[in-house]
This record gives sequence, C-alpha cells and structure tokens, in this order.
Amino acid sequence: MHQLIDSHCHWGHPRLQALQPELWQSCIAQGVGQLVVPGTHHASFSQQISLCEAHPCWHLALGLHPYFSDRHTQQHLSDLAEALVHHTPVAVGEIGLDFALDTNLEGFSIVHQEHWFIAQVKLAQHAKLPLIVHSRKANDRLGQLLRQLKFDQGGIVHGFSGSLQQAEKFTQLGFKIGFGGTLTYDRAQAMRRLVKALPLTDIVLETDAPDMPMAGQEQGQPNRPDMLPRVLAVLAQLRLEPISEIASQTIANTLDVLRLN
Ligand SMILES: [Zn+2]
Repeated sequence: MHQLIDSHCHWGHPRLQALQPELWQSCIAQGVGQLVVPGTHHASFSQQISLCEAHPCWHLALGLHPYFSDRHTQQHLSDLAEALVHHTPVAVGEIGLDFALDTNLEGFSIVHQEHWFIAQVKLAQHAKLPLIVHSRKANDRLGQLLRQLKFDQGGIVHGFSGSLQQAEKFTQLGFKIGFGGTLTYDRAQAMRRLVKALPLTDIVLETDAPDMPMAGQEQGQPNRPDMLPRVLAVLAQLRLEPISEIASQTIANTLDVLRLN
C-alpha cells in the first residue's frame, strides 16, 4: 500500500516537536509518509520554512489563520506574498473564517476576519496556489466569497463540519473535503452520514495534530499524525469499501489538489 498523506498537521507545534524524532519514525512505521504543514501566524513562518526545507516529505503551506486575526498586520501580509515567491509552498493556508470566535471583539470581528481572508485569497489567485481553508460556522459565507472573488485554484476545506449541500458547493469550486479525528467518534453521526454520501474523489484525510484528539485518546494527549490510519479504518468501515481503495484514492486526491504529482 502507498504511504498515506496527512493533509493537515501542525508539525512545527511544540507538542509535536517534543515527540521528535520518534514521532516521525512512528509515522513511517504506521504508513504515513507525507505531511502537509499549514501556517497559522507570521511568527512561526521561519521555523516552519526551515522544518519543511529540511525534509522533502513535509510540505509547506503558509497563511494567516483566523484564530490570530487580532495579531495579523499588513506587513505580515506583504511578507507572506514574498514568501510565496521565495519558498514555493504547496498552498496558501491555513486561512478562513471562524464565526465560533467572539466576533464582538474588534480583533475577531467578521469585517476583520474577512479582510485577512480576502487579501490572502487574492494572493493565492495571483500565485496560482490552492488554499487550505479553516471554516467554523462559516461554510456559506466562505463559499460566497470564493465565488465572488472568482477563485479557481481549488484546495482543501479542512476538518469539515457541515451539510452535504455545503460540501458540494465547495467541491464544485474545485475543493476537496478534509476529515480527521472527529470521524472516529461514534457520536459524530451527521459527519459519518456525510462521508458515506460524498464521492470518494472529494475526500482527503487529515489529523489536524496536535488538535482534535481521536476517540479513546486519553484526555489531554495530543493528536498525532501517526494515528491517521485510524481515520482511514473508520472511513472504510462506514463506506464498506476496501481500505486499500480508500487509501489510494484519498492519496491521489491530495496529490492532485496540491499538485504534488
Ligand atoms: Zn489547523
């Protein structure tokens, strides 16, 4: 079987770096051979760039995450534009909208969040790069903005939570839908129905490590990229399709959308 790709892993996070080098060895042993490492804020760009430059299997993405909307500056945006040229990431991300944050706070207001999102979509369009999108309670608005901006480079909507109709709006725009640890919980019924209804060609796998712990993990333990095969196993169980078929198709989807072929 081909090596799996964790399409969303915050590899530079101190909680994961503390587990190195054993963690990467364990990834390889578990059949996880590549990671996509999304950016979150300007201060971590240089660490992320050097990590990914040191290893051809760790794919760099750079972006300004909505969690840090109150910290981003115009200078960060120009540095990002420059980094897209000099460090050739595979995507702009993780960017997006998070309406579960307190949007009454000035730094996280809808206007503020959308400002950073729109500016980065334009950078990605200009650089002809796909996006890695974070969406919480914002699927409809994100779809609307991507259409209005005529964004046509595709990407991944990661850690997706929403309806089949919302997922289809994204796939019509050339996006893949990322599923991770949440799927391993029996109680995630709506999401489990969704992964059965979506065509396999629309799905990519992720862990979002160290966030979003898997079912059965001890409280407070970080999620880890070497646990990705558990997401694959649940998907195979739900869809009643062979693990090998799901593995090879989701790998192909990730390579395709991020043009890693
Ligand atoms: Zn993330």
